[in-house]
This record gives sequence, structure tokens and C-alpha cells, in this order.
Amino acid sequence: MMVKQEIESLKKTIHHYDHLYYVKNSPSVSDREYDALLRRLQELESDYPELITPDSPTQRVGGKVDERFKAIVHPVPMLSLDNTYNVDEVRAFHQRVLRGLPGVDEDSIEYVVELKFDGLAVALTYEAGLLVRGATRGDGLQGEDITANLRTLRSIPLKIDTELFKRIEVRGEVYMPKKEFERINALREQAGETPFANPRNAAAGALRLLDPAITAKRNLGIFIYGVGFLDVNPFTTHDELQKKMSALRFPVNEHNRLCKNFEATLALIETFRDQRKELDYEVDGLVIQLNSLAYRKRLGATSKFPRWAVAYKYEAEQAITKIKDIVCQVGRTGSITPVAELQPVFVSGSTVSRATLHNEDEIKRKDIRVGDQVVIEKAGEIIPQVVRVLESSSQRALPFAMPTVCPECEASLYREESEAVWRCVNSACPAQLKERLKYFASRKAMDIDHLGPAVIDQLVNSERVKNFSDLYRLNKNDLATLERLADKSAQNLIDEISKSKSAGLSRLLHGLGVRHVGQRTASLLARKFGSLKKLQETSYEELERIDEIGPVIAESLNAFLSSDTNQQEIERLHQLGIAMEEEGGGLESEGRLEGQQFVLTGTLSQFTREEAKEKIQDQGGRVTTTVSKKTNYLVAGESAGSKLEKARKLGIEILDEEGLQNLLAGE
Ligand code: NAD
Repeated sequence: MMVKQEIESLKKTIHHYDHLYYVKNSPSVSDREYDALLRRLQELESDYPELITPDSPTQRVGGKVDERFKAIVHPVPMLSLDNTYNVDEVRAFHQRVLRGLPGVDEDSIEYVVELKFDGLAVALTYEAGLLVRGATRGDGLQGEDITANLRTLRSIPLKIDTELFKRIEVRGEVYMPKKEFERINALREQAGETPFANPRNAAAGALRLLDPAITAKRNLGIFIYGVGFLDVNPFTTHDELQKKMSALRFPVNEHNRLCKNFEATLALIETFRDQRKELDYEVDGLVIQLNSLAYRKRLGATSKFPRWAVAYKYEAEQAITKIKDIVCQVGRTGSITPVAELQPVFVSGSTVSRATLHNEDEIKRKDIRVGDQVVIEKAGEIIPQVVRVLESSSQRALPFAMPTVCPECEASLYREESEAVWRCVNSACPAQLKERLKYFASRKAMDIDHLGPAVIDQLVNSERVKNFSDLYRLNKNDLATLERLADKSAQNLIDEISKSKSAGLSRLLHGLGVRHVGQRTASLLARKFGSLKKLQETSYEELERIDEIGPVIAESLNAFLSSDTNQQEIERLHQLGIAMEEEGGGLESEGRLEGQQFVLTGTLSQFTREEAKEKIQDQGGRVTTTVSKKTNYLVAGESAGSKLEKARKLGIEILDEEGLQNLLAGE
């Protein structure tokens, strides 16, 4: 290939991966693979500098600003880090540092070595001691305003001791603990959604949600690793600065090490190689940086990264194995996912015998075939992926062909243009039914203990259960013939099924598995309408107008509730005594604040803005963002600004926090 063509092709591929990684939070290749492509592009561009274009991925930092959020211009750019993958490259970095500091004695050069957390960089600005803004890194120059979401992280101080700084911007990495990552992914799988590839993408997803109340439930953590700017700087080293950050109660990582010489930094690479695996958060390498702030200043930065720091990346553990077969799994919504069955192999602490191949396009791109020797890797060291096919022999199997009919029920498959997945058209498909039943019985839905996958398989295969309502008709005789179900367990299962009748509307709505209606939406609807009957009588337009529902959910609900099959099933469930009401629900329509419009401004101290919003909505009030003649109340927290002025001019009633509390309490 001509160099120019290769460069163009690399740029296109990398842009595509960037989009998946930074915008969709859903990478389709491993970081190693991505880094190798970027490196190849860098090499070509350094040999042919005339071919470098300003839009090249080598010329800019990371992500994009999602337009759902307000853009924030960083006062000091948030750069990336140059990468190294072996000790020689780290030595080369040290040599560049020495060359950049002529006249400086090598013995006086100290490094600070820190863990490189695999998360998302954020900047937190404090003014007069109060947290006023939180932003993502974005493209380094501009980030996204995610203040409300960052405020939900308990380890971020909302207020710091101010005697020293009037204005300070600290920087850190938000991460999702490994356990939390596993929990979220299990939930996603249960809900028929694609799991996150690694904790970093999961953290990025959680931080960039439009609803901070959900972010708050994600148990994200943060480590503060540096400062963007401060108005007075009495510090001479990074180490001192970090000690001060720690004293101000910022979460600074305990493993940071000050190294008196370069060799000591190299030793730490070995120390942390295995130690990092014991940690509760993902660490993909180390950051090696100069301790002296004066030296840092002398070295400066390129447009992409500082010259005084470098990242050392640990290799992801890989293993070689063979693809025994490629099978297709059918999900709850009919999605067909190709999965590789592997010759079992041990990698990163566990034996792997299956790996997802994502979708048809991925298999084609990597040209993966049955019988191939492949390299597998745990992306984010957790989910196994097939990285690539090893040099293959000439007698390979034919390329993989996606089935044209459902592997389970033989109904035809369809693929929407905007989607990468194929789906089975048959809603009565037994594989889909099994997945739907598992979902229906799950903890967060109807919570039917003892109704596990093995029992569901047998009930569906023997055609004893064809829909949810059939579960409620099962008797002990039906269960007696099931394998591996003792008499006592059969009775327990019957009891559990019967108990679930009174689970309530919220759980039932969730369990029915309406697309786009997760646990939260189900609970919102249950609270609001109180009964399934009321919900059935509600028009699409009314649903769409509800805050937090919107057109997508409204349409999906409407389609679900107006289908004959679903109506019949709901009627059957009703006849069988399944509760279709929510205790205490349905009162909001007569809520005390019905028809009242609120605007919130300034910093509230007793609850977050989101909590205040929820409380107002719970009583039927509406919360908007702009003050207008229609506004009934302005709730003004600390340091309220222009909205307060405008409300005063318009003669709108102004409430302080206490006033709001009183109003909510009906006083
Ligand atoms: P980076 O993640 O390699 O390094 C820079 C970042 O490290 C900083 O912005 C900061 O957020 C973080 N960091 C963590 N701990 C730190 C510490 N102690 N001190 C300072 N910084 C610390 O670079 P990047 O530009 O953020 O992202 C590129 C990464 O994303 C690469 O690893 C690349 O492989 C991956 N990527 C992957 C794909 C894919 O499709 N797989 C696509 C795009 C990018």
C-alpha cells in the first residue's frame, strides 16, 4: 500500500475506534490493538511529516464533547500522557529529560511514581473553598460540564479549607471499583443490554448520564493526582503539593512513591506488576513524572502531552487457544450474539472457555473461523475477547456465516440499518422466552427464588410454560417430573411463585421486560399511576409529557400495552391474582404542588439539586431551568446569581431551603 493510502486508512480506522470508545463508551478492539495502530500512524507521520494533517488522531487528545452537556473551556489544557511499553522506552524518556535540562546534575532528579488508574480524567474547580464546577477532559481544550454528577461522588469534598487558595482546579481520575463493575454488568446482561467492556467505559458511562441520581448509585471513586491551576503556588515539588491535597481531604492514592533516582523508578515497575491485581480498582500502568515543578516548567509540553511525565503500560495478559465452535446465543429481546467456544485456557487468574465475538461485522473484520488458533485477552483484564487470528494454515474452515434463521426456533432474522445486531422476529421463540422468564424472576423484578435457569429450561422445553401467567398455574405434579428438583424444593418454588403475586406494580412492570423500561422507570410509573389499569388508560401524549419519560419510552410502552397478546397476558395475570397496583402510588396526580412551576438556583446544602427536584416532582410540581412569568417559585440556595435577580424583578415568590422544606411538608 502506498504510504499516503495507509495513513488515510489508519486515520479512518482510528477515528472510528475513537468514536466507539469516547462517545459510545463501547470499544470494539483492545487498547493494545488500538495503541499499535496509533503507533504505526505516528511512525509513518514522523517519516513523512508533510503528510501530517491537523485532523490526525496523533495531533489531539482523546474524546469529544457530547452536545448533551454544556461545554467548558479548560483554563489550562488537560493533556494526555506519552506511553511506553518496556524498560528501554522508559530509559529513553529519562534521557530526553536529561537532554531537556542541560546543566542539571542527574543526581538531583527525583521522580514520583503513581499508579495509572484506568478511569476518566476530570477537573474540579473550587472558588472560595466551594466546589463550583466539574468537567470531563473532553478533547483536552474543552470538556463537558458534569458538575451535578461529580457532586454525587462521596469522596469529593464539596468544601475545602480556603485559607491558602481563592481559586484552585484539581485534577483526578474517576474510576469504577472492580466489584461494582461486575455488579453493573450482571444487571446489564440480565436486562438484555450489552455489558461494558471494562471498568473505564463503565465509569465514563456512569459519569456522563443525564440523571445524577443514577450516577449516585454507581459507587464511583476518584483519586486526585494533580493540579490544573492555583492562584498562589508556594510549592516547589509535586510531592509537597500532593501532601497538601491530602491534608485538604482530597483522596490521594496511598501507593504514590517518591524515587530519589531513576533506577528506583524502574524497580517499581516490577513491584506493581502483580501487586496492582490485588487492588479493588483497575490499574493499567504507572505514571512516572518529575518531582520538581521548576524542572517541569523548563521542559514544557507538546500539544498532546507533557515532556516531564510518561505512562508505563503493563501488557494485558494474553493466551493462545483454538476456536472449537462459533455458536449464536439468543437474548431476551431476540438479539443474536455470536460466541466463540474455546479450548479452555488459563488467563489473568481464571480459565476461559468462551469469548464474545460481539456481532457479524466484528467477525468479518477479524476474519475469525472455526478451527483457528487465536490470541485471546481479557479486555480490562475481565471480559475475554478474541484479539486476532494467529498465522493461519491454508486449510481453514469457510468464513463464518451468520445464520439466516434463529438457531432456536428457525424464525427469520432481521437487522435494523442503524444496528449491528441481528434479531429473531418470533416473540414466542423459546430461547427468548427462557431469557424473559429469567428476567421476570430476577431479584429486582418479581424476585422468585428457586426459579433458576435449569428449571426454566425444563419448563419451557416441556411446553408447560409458554408465558408468565403459566408460572402461576403450576402445581406440584407439574414440577414432580423435573430433573434435579427434590420434593421440598418443588414446594419452595410453588410458595415463592405464589408469594410473588403481591410483588406490586413496580416489580411487575420491570419484570414484563418492556423495552427501555428499566427498574427506575418502572418505579416512577408505578408511583405516578398507582395501577396498571390507569397506565393502560393513559395516552401516548400524556406519557410523553411526563418528565423523565419522553418519546422513546412512551412509544415503547404504548406499543407494548396496546398489543393484543400483551393485553391478554395482562388479563390472565390479573385473573390469577397478580397484584397490579402499587401501594401508595397514584397519589401524585392529586399532589399538593400540581401545576406549580419551580426553578432551582444556587447551591443547596441539605440535599442535591436532583433530590430537591425529585421531591418537588413527587408532589406533582414541575421543575424547569429558566425563570419566566410562568414560574411560581424560585428556590435560591447559597450564591444564587442572575436567576435570583430575574425572579425578584418578575415578583416571583422566592424560597430559601427552609421555605422549600416547609412547602414540601405542607406547612
Ligand atoms: P491514557 O489513558 O493512556 O493516559 C492519560 C490519562 O491517564 C490522563 O488523562 C489521566 O486521565 C490518566 N491517569 C490515570 N492515572 C493517572 C495519574 N496517576 N497521573 C496522571 N494521569 C493519570 O491516554 P488517553 O489519552 O486518556 O487515552 C488513550 C487510551 O485510551 C489509550 O490507552 C488507548 O488505548 C485507549 N483507547 C482505546 C480505544 C479502543 O478502541 N480500545 C480507543 C481510543 C482510546
